[in-house]
Amino acid sequence: MTALDQHHPAPRLRVVVVGGGTAGWMTAAALVRLLPTRCSVHLVESEAIGIVGVGEATIPHIRAFNERLAIDEADFMAATRATYKLGIEFTDWARIGDRYMHPFCRFGQDIGSVGFQHFWNRARLQGLGAGDFGDYAIAVAMSRQSRFASPIKQQSGITSAYSYAYQFDASLFARYLRRYSEDLRVSRTEARIVSVSQDTVTGDITGLKLEDGSTIEGDLFIDCSGFRSLLVGETLGEPFEDWSRWLPCDRAIAMPCRNEGPITPYTSATAMGSGWRWRIPLQHRSGNGYVYASAFVDEQTAMDSLVGAVEGKPIASPRVLRFAAGRRRRSWVRNCVAVGLASGFLEPLESTSIYLIQVAITTLIELFPDTPVADVDRDEFNLAINVEYDRIRDFLILHYHATERDDTLFWNYVRTMSVPDSVAEKVALFRARGRVETYARGLFLEPSWLAVYHGQRVLPEDYDLRADIVPADRLLPALERMRAEIAAAAHAMPDHAAYIAAHCAMTGVDL
Ligand SMILES: Cc1cc2nc3c(=O)[nH]c(=O)nc-3n(C[C@H](O)[C@H](O)[C@H](O)COP(=O)(O)OP(=O)(O)OC[C@H]3O[C@@H](n4cnc5c(N)ncnc54)[C@H](O)[C@@H]3O)c2cc1C
Repeated sequence: MTALDQHHPAPRLRVVVVGGGTAGWMTAAALVRLLPTRCSVHLVESEAIGIVGVGEATIPHIRAFNERLAIDEADFMAATRATYKLGIEFTDWARIGDRYMHPFCRFGQDIGSVGFQHFWNRARLQGLGAGDFGDYAIAVAMSRQSRFASPIKQQSGITSAYSYAYQFDASLFARYLRRYSEDLRVSRTEARIVSVSQDTVTGDITGLKLEDGSTIEGDLFIDCSGFRSLLVGETLGEPFEDWSRWLPCDRAIAMPCRNEGPITPYTSATAMGSGWRWRIPLQHRSGNGYVYASAFVDEQTAMDSLVGAVEGKPIASPRVLRFAAGRRRRSWVRNCVAVGLASGFLEPLESTSIYLIQVAITTLIELFPDTPVADVDRDEFNLAINVEYDRIRDFLILHYHATERDDTLFWNYVRTMSVPDSVAEKVALFRARGRVETYARGLFLEPSWLAVYHGQRVLPEDYDLRADIVPADRLLPALERMRAEIAAAAHAMPDHAAYIAAHCAMTGVDL
């Protein structure tokens, strides 16, 4: 035994992953790839139960996940029929007729240490006609013109100052990761789990009993069982913190359609009478769905509104999904870690669920346990995950609460509801002089908050005095130059569909 071995006797933990949806296969793939000497991975899933499979829009962090797993981008995009995503376009949110984007990029260029938004804000308050805030974002200009090119690495300037994510077929993504994981020796059992056994002294989970009477034993269990939360929720009884008083949407009707018109490099989120509707263009079809609050509209009316609004011929019957906004009080309990929907759910308005899966996996790998699990590691994991959920929750609440709409009971409710102090304080800070609260952990960063504040018509009443550094006669020409450079840079880029065709055209038979 070497000195290193003595320090780390490293038993190879038997990890059992329950569930073969996006969460299950992402977890299995990452563990087997990144901790091959520390664990073996066995995954159990039930095809009879199936997967949610509608998580189709992502945020740029997923690229780091794929890179760590050495997944080739073109291969992955072709296999999952993916498109590029530069942000989300919001329509009809603050007022009917409004339209804005939350892009994956910064706005404008800072001058010295003073953020661009303060100059724009000064120009607005002084009536200089600075134009739309979105005109200063390259990813917005690219989206409006349906253009795409990968950011140029190691270059400063407009053509490298944005990021991108993917819109893909979630079921194909799970299948892709399954093949990847099985190639790296993840073993899999297809069966329904009928009961869970626990150690009578510690309460730790020891094994899963399957419908054929056999048992699967393990040391560490990852609960990726979806909304049911079979291990952490049902077996270990971890309470669910319900946030539906702030995020009342609790249903979605999903309905894929044939593509009509251009394949946009962005996701659309259009406000509806009692929620909002998504459109996610993939290479072979578009995902569509209506996320709504059942307290304000019945299922048939919601379905009729969706069918009446979608573009393109439906290619499958509408499917209803039920959920509640919130999270488990703790995601890691005893020797069991909930990842994905088993840990909690925040509606897909900002495409954050797969990101939350990724954070859970990354944090678990950083804190990967010996046995028994150390309390400090478990506590740190739970803190990290809870902060992520709480921050996203606040960001989502802003979209609903900062509205002027009063045309339906739903919009009246969200506009007038009381919000968590953490939201009220952020909004008050921004309204005063355009300052965005920053934090070390969790989403979202300043440009995202700026996009949504401006888009939702939350505007500062005064400006940061440091913006006076630019003389009055030079401010507007400087802003106009930035706008023109951004529009021209976007115009010089390839068409999104042509870029896909050249780099990652889908494989397999069309649906
Ligand atoms: C309407 C809607 C839209 C969404 N849109 C997005 C989006 O745009 N972007 C995004 O990032 N996320 C989105 N999500 C979330 C995303 O779909 C999920 O985060 C993702 O699919 C992960 O699901 P999961 O793997 O946790 O659970 P599931 O897909 O439900 O998988 C659960 C697994 O557990 C297994 N299982 C359960 N019970 C048992 C049992 N007793 N025995 C054996 N196996 C069992 C099932 O067979 C299945 O394999 C959306 C979710 C919804 C509801």
